[in-house]
Amino acid sequence: MQIPKEISQTTGKLENAGFEAYIVGGCVRDIFMNKEPKDWDITTNANPDQITSLFKHSHYDNNFGTVRVINDKTENEKLKVIEVTTYRLDANYSDSRRPDSVIFSQNLEDDLKRRDFTINALALKVSHETTNVLYETVVDLFGGIKDLNNGIIKTVGKADERFDEDALRILRAIRLSSELGFIINTETERSIKKMAQKIGLIAKERIRDEFIKIIMSDRPMFGIEMMNRLNLLKYTIPEIEEGLGIKQNQAHSYDVWEHSLRAVQVASNKKWPLEIRLAALFHDIGKPRTRRWSEEKEDWTFYGHEVIGSQMTEKILRNLKFPTKTTEKTVLLARWHMFFTDTDQITLSAVRRMLRNVGTENIWDLMNVRIADRVGTGRPKEDPYRLRKYKSMIEEVIRDPISVKMLKIDGNKIMDVSQETAGPKIGYILNALLEEALNDPKKNTESYLKKRALKLSKLDNETLQGLGEKGKEKMGVEEEREKKILRGKYGVK
Ligand code: ATP
Ligand code: MG
Repeated sequence: MQIPKEISQTTGKLENAGFEAYIVGGCVRDIFMNKEPKDWDITTNANPDQITSLFKHSHYDNNFGTVRVINDKTENEKLKVIEVTTYRLDANYSDSRRPDSVIFSQNLEDDLKRRDFTINALALKVSHETTNVLYETVVDLFGGIKDLNNGIIKTVGKADERFDEDALRILRAIRLSSELGFIINTETERSIKKMAQKIGLIAKERIRDEFIKIIMSDRPMFGIEMMNRLNLLKYTIPEIEEGLGIKQNQAHSYDVWEHSLRAVQVASNKKWPLEIRLAALFHDIGKPRTRRWSEEKEDWTFYGHEVIGSQMTEKILRNLKFPTKTTEKTVLLARWHMFFTDTDQITLSAVRRMLRNVGTENIWDLMNVRIADRVGTGRPKEDPYRLRKYKSMIEEVIRDPISVKMLKIDGNKIMDVSQETAGPKIGYILNALLEEALNDPKKNTESYLKKRALKLSKLDNETLQGLGEKGKEKMGVEEEREKKILRGKYGVK
């Protein structure tokens, strides 16, 4: 892991002007974990005006003391804007959300003290030699390196106080734990449980951003279980907890809760995008509210759970201020996750109806939700015969059928070149041309087809009709051939 020269040049410039400068926060944590940092942060005792006067291309446009230094020359997106922040002390937090004011400081220690967790409170003095030395000094005032090595998330200072100041830190702890696979230190965890209800004070958008990071991490199941254990679901998405202990029908070995968590974990293992993960988590959220005992079946039923569930999903995502597009797509996937793939019963028109419901742009994502659902049920075979058959039928419905529409000529143009008027003859000519183009696709050019159309138009109707019939036959043969190729692709008949 190298420190990019754009970073060492920036800290170097500050140091040459007589200031201190360190890289700090998440990027230091990531360097020690041998991961590529998501963003780079620099902290310094220079005040914002001093920083801006050192860097020609820089903006200072907020009241948190952050200066954005612009690097036009770099190729690396993450280095185009480098945030340089003056050491600061956070003053009073009277509302558990934001400091009332920001006070700049001359001491690095003050700046590290205000940071949330020990692993996020490390600072590195960057080396400016062109040797392979990564850094000159690491400032570790709170045992962050030890916690990094042991995989532990622990607050800087007293957990109760730190969570009381800013309740978002509670969710950051869960998020970091899910992302890094770290465990939360006992005192920190006890405090989270105690302070859980404070997250009711946080802006929904900020809850949403941390929740997204938990879902997009490699361990969403672990993260949501932890949210449950530490009382946090109650104040964020209580609906998920309704699935706890809700036994399903005989086809299922897990309750609704565990099934949902397993499904989102499968989607994460597959590295699938956010909407698929959310749909995997929420697809059965309506089950607890629709569960009925059937005397006849001697089993539980959940009729309409996909309708109730998609309504609940919409409410949850709207409440957390998810972008409309994300909400709509997730709701759609949850709404249509129930479909029959029984190869003996399914018809192309049923598949066509499904496509109309979810849209061609969402159909493959819906198939992936189905896989997450299936594997999350405990059935290890993710792509069984039925599902593959269903997929091949989708492709069959989606693809353009073989028809005269494929020709680089149409009836109007044929009438133009041949001076014929509209009538069955034009249809015969089109079919005859199609036969030629299917035999030799290179002939499907406007100029060739125009010439051929003119010649064909000279033939009598009967001969033309015969040629046209041959064209139709060829079309049927080609259709069959394409269907076979398609089925072969999915290994189904
Ligand atoms: P990521 O890898 O997602 O960027 P990060 O830890 O860098 O994780 P940022 O939001 O970029 O998260 O924050 C940068 C640093 O600022 C953190 O490492 C931490 O030191 C500090 N920080 C961020 N949010 C808080 C907070 N709510 N309270 C205290 N310190 C915080
Ligand atoms: Mg960061």
